[in-house]
Amino acid sequence: MPRASGFKPIGLRDYVRLHSKSNPDVEEADLTLRLRETLEKYKAGTRCSCGAPIWVIGSAEVGNMCFKCITGSIDSSEDYEIDEACDKAMF
Ligand SMILES: [Zn+2]
Repeated sequence: MPRASGFKPIGLRDYVRLHSKSNPDVEEADLTLRLRETLEKYKAGTRCSCGAPIWVIGSAEVGNMCFKCITGSIDSSEDYEIDEACDKAMF
């Protein structure tokens, strides 16, 4: 079933593993904690300053912002989002 957000859903732990493979400097425990905290904010209804729901994976790095404001792109089909946050309608 296509999702409104167009992201590639990924489990939090799978993403941490994937990310740390290409970014060996990243502390897995630290990244996990940041993602969990950001996911909680997402679930609590935190939004980007533009009004869109936040992109958890990007927001864990740069603060509470949506995909469009972080990347400048509206095509998220090649980007991951934590599966629990893929229920958002983005645009
Ligand atoms: Zn935004």
